[in-house]
Order: sequence, then structure tokens, then C-alpha cells
Amino acid sequence: MATNKWKNWSGIVKCQPKKIKFPKSEKELQKVVQKCIKKGQRLRVCGTGHSWNPLCETDEIMVSLDEYQGIEHIDMEKKQATVYAGTKLHLLGKLLFEYGLGLKNMGDIDEQSIAGAVSTGTHGTGMELGSLSTQVVGLTLVTGTGDIVACSETENRELFKAAQLSLGMLGVISKITLQCDPAYKLKLHVDKEPIHSVFANLDRYNRDNRNFEFYWFPYTDYVQTKFSNITHESPKDPGRVEFMTDMVLENGLFGVMSAATRVVPKFSSRLARISAWAVSTSDKVNWSHKVYTMPRLVKFNEMEYNIPLDRFQEVFDEIRHCIDREKFNVHFPLENRFSPADDIYLSSAYGRESAYISCHVYKGKPYQKYFAALEKIFRKYDGRPHWAKLHTLTANELADIYPKWEDFRRIRQQCDPNGLFLNGYLRALVGAKATEKVIY
Ligand SMILES: Cc1cc2nc3c(=O)[nH]c(=O)nc-3n(C[C@H](O)[C@H](O)[C@H](O)COP(=O)(O)OP(=O)(O)OC[C@H]3O[C@@H](n4cnc5c(N)ncnc54)[C@H](O)[C@@H]3O)c2cc1C
Repeated sequence: MATNKWKNWSGIVKCQPKKIKFPKSEKELQKVVQKCIKKGQRLRVCGTGHSWNPLCETDEIMVSLDEYQGIEHIDMEKKQATVYAGTKLHLLGKLLFEYGLGLKNMGDIDEQSIAGAVSTGTHGTGMELGSLSTQVVGLTLVTGTGDIVACSETENRELFKAAQLSLGMLGVISKITLQCDPAYKLKLHVDKEPIHSVFANLDRYNRDNRNFEFYWFPYTDYVQTKFSNITHESPKDPGRVEFMTDMVLENGLFGVMSAATRVVPKFSSRLARISAWAVSTSDKVNWSHKVYTMPRLVKFNEMEYNIPLDRFQEVFDEIRHCIDREKFNVHFPLENRFSPADDIYLSSAYGRESAYISCHVYKGKPYQKYFAALEKIFRKYDGRPHWAKLHTLTANELADIYPKWEDFRRIRQQCDPNGLFLNGYLRALVGAKATEKVIY
């Protein structure tokens, strides 16, 4: 008998939905939701499962929009594209480019669905460039009452501010309208620098570059810096050696060597030092969607926190001392990115200029003590977790750090009065009443 086994990218979330539905249109999607309502069944919508938390977990009905991809409409004058919610980012990049458009910013990979990426606040780096959620100017969703509702800055604004990042708790998003830019080329410059010099120049790097980020190698004084800026130069690839080095380093050094650290954990610090030593200088020029992202060849588990930009160095120094003191067996570099404030209710950048620090552990290695120690530091500095990445916070703690928490909860209750879209994890996360059942 066929089973509906589902697991996330790293394999730490597994579930077996009773049925997985693949609607091909908004109407079909609405029917799926209405049928669940009628039968009193809960429903979770998944993208590509690139989140580490059990956001998509369900043993009832799962909805995938894999068969609902593409562009519905382009407004060339406004440079806005309305796309079907299941569209994968790599397809979106290509399709927008055919219209002479590009996304304003992207994260590290392009495997995710647009709705999944938006619904967790997926972000890249750049002080003028918010997360993918901030690039949304309107969206349509099928709510927990089975209605199709549209929202934007000018229509149902409160709902819009909640729906720009909602973990699929308000409804299933069917369409998203994105504010794009005219297609542009980026020049990515990769370099190596001592950490003290990066902090001495941090404001300038953030101010003078469209996108700046850096990777710090634990147990070393060195970082890999990445600067991207718009260019009119002709496309140019980094040399094969430089490209391989970047691939290898960002992937925590070859799978084989990472696997070795599972057997000999003490090899981790040496591997981190080798990685730092191996960083080389390279330049790449191409259309933006071909520059932002890199394949992730090695699987890992990850935690990422957003902290106020003005506390970044303190947090970073504390993390560094903590790793040195506790001698954690980690070799993946810590990624550091930057973003402006926004006004999205559940955005970790709500109301403050932000820095993001993310830490990775090779799949299969214990990460719990390392993440717990770093989470303690992040929390001391008003850290807000990335919704897709591992963290331990639940309703009470989240209420303290998200100023619009109660507004989000109220809107969630209105959109989904019977908890159609809640699984156990989300119920605990938003502090929904245990008595709230799908009863119609
Ligand atoms: C290798 C790797 C690299 C990553 N790099 C970055 C990065 O650079 N920056 C960053 O911020 N994050 C990054 N992430 C995290 C990733 O972007 C998020 O986990 C994102 O949510 C994944 O999209 P998805 O399509 O896989 O969604 P899923 O993980 O499948 O779902 C995520 C959430 O979206 C909801 N959802 C999905 N579709 C819909 C819909 N149609 N309507 C309503 N809700 C919906 C789901 O219910 C769930 O709550 C990375 C993850 C991995 C594994």
C-alpha cells in the first residue's frame, strides 16, 4: 500500500499525512480547504520542507502547491509580478528574468517555494534590503473559514501585516504579488580578512555595499567576506579553483571531512582552521538570480537569531568566547548578515535594524548543547529566532519579544477560528487553547 511519508530537508522532521493533496488552481485549493472544514480534519500546507522546525508536520491532510507554479500576471509599469504560491525560487528567478525583472534580494539558496520562503521571513543581507516578506505587496489566501481573501498595504492592511509572515497559520496562500526591480547584474567579491578589521569597518561595509555578509571560522581570527554590488560589467565566473573553494567552505568543507568529525569530533577545530586558511579571493559577475545563491551540498541542522544591530559586536564576542571556553566540536563557519527594520508583525526585524547570526552543525552530529549555549546569549540581547530554524521558544517568551504578538494572535483567531491550520507544535507556539478544536 502506498504511504505518504514526508520529511524535511535535513531529515529531523518526519511525518505521515493521511493524504497529500496537490491542487492545481485556487478553486481546487479552496475545495480542499472546504472539504477539510466539512470533515473536521486539520490541514498543513508545505513548501519544499526546507525548515527545521515541525511547521509542516501533520498526520491529517497535507497540501502541496507543487502543481501550482508560474506567473499569473506582470504589471510592467509598477514592476510587480503576481505569482502562484507554489513557484520555486529557481523557477521564479528564470521567469522574472524573461520579463526583464529580478527579485530585490534573496537568501543563500533558491530551492524553496515562494510562499514557504515568505511565510518564514526568509532573508538575505543588505541594509537597504529586507526579507522576502518585505518584497510582497499583496497576497491572496484561503482562510480557515474556506473564504478567499485578498490583502495588501491598501486592502485589509492589518491582515496583510500578519500574512506577510504567518507560518501558514492564517490560511493557505494561493497567490503573491512581488515588488521587483528591473533585471540587474551583481558583482560578488569574496575575500579574507581578520575579524578585528571587519568590526573596525563594519559600518562602512554595510553602508557602501548593496549586500555585505561574512562567515567567521570558529577557533580562528579570520573571516570570509562577501560584497555584492550592481554592475554593468560582462558576466564573469570565478576561476574553477576559487569557485570550488567557495563551494567547499560554505558547505562546511567536503561531506567526507564533515563525516570524519562525527567519528573524531576533535577534528572539528582543525577543520575550521583549515577552512579559514583556504579562503581565497574571487570575483563573480552575473544576473542577480545567478549570484545570490549557492548549492548546499552537505546537510546540516541550523539555528539563527536576529539581534539588534547595535548589540552585534557584543553578541559576537560573547559567542566567540563561549565557543573557545566550551570547546564545542564545530567546524561550520558562523554566517553574519544584516538588514533594515520592517513593520511586519512576526518579522524578527520588526522595528529595528538587525544583524543575523546563524550556526550550523553537520547532520547527525549532536547540536543541542552548542545551540543551547548560543541561544542563551542571543536571548540575553533581545534575540528573536528565525521561525524556520531550530529554537526552543514558545508562546510566553515570544509574547515578550514581538511587540505585535497579540495582534497576530487576534488575526489568527479571526482567520482560523477553529484551529484548522494548527498542529501540536504551532498550538504551543502561539499559545492557542487546547480546547480549540476543528468542530463545525
Ligand atoms: C540549505 C538551506 C538554506 C537556507 N538558507 C536560508 C537563507 O539564506 N535565509 C533564510 O532566511 N532562510 C534560509 N533557509 C530557511 C528557508 O528559507 C525556510 O525554511 C523556508 O521557509 C523554506 O521554504 P519551503 O518552501 O521549503 O517551506 P516549508 O519549509 O515547506 O514551509 C515553511 C512554512 O511556510 C508555510 N507555507 C508553505 N507554503 C505555504 C502557503 N502556500 N501558504 C501559507 N503558508 C505556507 C508552511 O506551512 C510552513 O509553516 C534555508 C534553509 C535551508 C535548508
